[in-house]
Amino acid sequence: MICLIKKNRSIPLALLIAEAAHRRTPPLHPRYPYIKKDHRNFSSGYKGESSVDYYLKNCPLSSSYIYHNLRFERPDDEAFEMDVLLTFPGYLLILEVKHYSGEPVTLKADPHQLTWKSYEKKKNTFDDPILQVKQQKKQLQLWLRTNNLPPMPVEYFVVMANPHCEVILSPSYKERDRVIRPSYLEYLIYEFDQKHKKSILTEGVLRDLDQALLSQHRELFKPGMERYNVSFEELKKGVHCPDCKYLKMRKVHRTWECAACGFYSKEVLLDTLKDYYLKTGKSITNQLFSQWCEINNRKTIKKTFKRLDLNYDGETKARRYFLGALIP
Ligand SMILES: [Zn+2]
Repeated sequence: MICLIKKNRSIPLALLIAEAAHRRTPPLHPRYPYIKKDHRNFSSGYKGESSVDYYLKNCPLSSSYIYHNLRFERPDDEAFEMDVLLTFPGYLLILEVKHYSGEPVTLKADPHQLTWKSYEKKKNTFDDPILQVKQQKKQLQLWLRTNNLPPMPVEYFVVMANPHCEVILSPSYKERDRVIRPSYLEYLIYEFDQKHKKSILTEGVLRDLDQALLSQHRELFKPGMERYNVSFEELKKGVHCPDCKYLKMRKVHRTWECAACGFYSKEVLLDTLKDYYLKTGKSITNQLFSQWCEINNRKTIKKTFKRLDLNYDGETKARRYFLGALIP
């Protein structure tokens, strides 16, 4: 049995940016409710996808590769994404993962839609995720053709990740077998192994496919909070606690202390600098560092940059430190 994770799940940049924006935007700012909602949505999506990893890890997978969060850009400036893709010698499997908490989720076929009420009892309506994943199948088949890879059977499923959230399928919902719980993945893959016994992809073609998938993946977000439209001046400044995220930590002698959770450490500025990078996507000067972290002590600033060993250009006041290395 070989089961290799070829593209790991990392915390999506979109989630990191939303989290930093949520932490640093004052609650009375007009964009705050939107940022809060965005943060909740990204983090719930990530939670759902991560919970599926547990079941995938325990699946008795026959020679397969696993790719998380692949995204491909098309020549028409559109893009398609897949939460999880598994490649087997006989077929490909796409998983679209959904994570809802609160009231039951209802899937209807006529028209194709998903409705769900959050804990606040607010009704939300979305497109039926089965349409989404079927569209991904179509795009993947087209992508295989464009990359001169052989046509492959593509299976697809919507995984409702939260076992505590009831899923109701309307009687007319046709593709009920394609909406599953993560615990069913193991049986399902076993079934498909039987159905697609014939190997279509040789080791060599699987390698070509692997290389094409990894080299053509493009991240959606670049660092920067343009999406949220909150200016540097408006954002809350200060050093936040790496443990409980409370703003602002206090410096007592050489140590930073968190009044909210009691965490203390000398090494806390890295997370605060990451927030700056997520806001601007740019480099930082001594002066901006001083404003962002609310530190006036020049020695501390100098020591911090020395310890971080970042690339820089320019001298004295004009020196800019490049922060890209802080977030891989
Ligand atoms: Zn704390």
